[in-house]
Amino acid sequence: MIMRIIFLGPPGAGKGTYASRLSPILKIPHISTGDMFRAEAASGSELGKKLHDIMTSGALVPDELTVEILKERIQKDDCKEGFILDGFPRTIKQAEMLDQATSIDVVLNVKLDQEILIKKMTARRVCKDCGNIYNIADIRIGDLHMPPLLPEKEGVCDKCGGNLIHRKDDTKEVIEDRLKEYEKKTAPLIDYYTKKGLLKDVVVAGGPDMMIPRILEMIGK
Ligand code: AMP
Repeated sequence: MIMRIIFLGPPGAGKGTYASRLSPILKIPHISTGDMFRAEAASGSELGKKLHDIMTSGALVPDELTVEILKERIQKDDCKEGFILDGFPRTIKQAEMLDQATSIDVVLNVKLDQEILIKKMTARRVCKDCGNIYNIADIRIGDLHMPPLLPEKEGVCDKCGGNLIHRKDDTKEVIEDRLKEYEKKTAPLIDYYTKKGLLKDVVVAGGPDMMIPRILEMIGK
């Protein structure tokens, strides 16, 4: 059965971690516009330089460019059985343009307290080569326990052996701007997809080992 999934939610909520773990289970690709933009920025191209400046300011990349790149990606062969979108759409305009290109089966809205988001993001580490995500924070607030996601060898990606880095936009100042951008431009998508009857809330209650089985159950897998 074809499964086209969107992960919605503020930056740092866990969209990328969930999407990367679900991808091999559901056998559909994990598509992160943020990863695609970071790869272009790392290439040092003219476009990459512009993207780097936008991303490190916490702002969003213009809709037309983002949608164009995304549409091209979901037309590829590996998306025939579906895909998991992480970080797209981020504006109503992007969602409307996506609706013209394909249909979506479910929107998973990841919910996590803002104080925890900031803690998690400042402690996040990503592989500069494959984008795999780690976290050095051990978060315990009330009943919620989010254990650290550490690599086997410090600073080295388990998956590909690449170096782990701290994203330039994962600093407290940029995170605050990214959260404001989320509230203003992306949060309205919760209403947009609720009205379409596609939204399911994923309330984060622990680390991914606890949450992945819950998400699979929610989507009937
Ligand atoms: P992420 O890795 O999803 O947190 O994205 C990192 C940055 O890439 C964001 O702060 C934006 O500047 C840019 N970006 C990623 N996805 C989108 C999108 N769908 N629309 C606009 N900008 C995006």
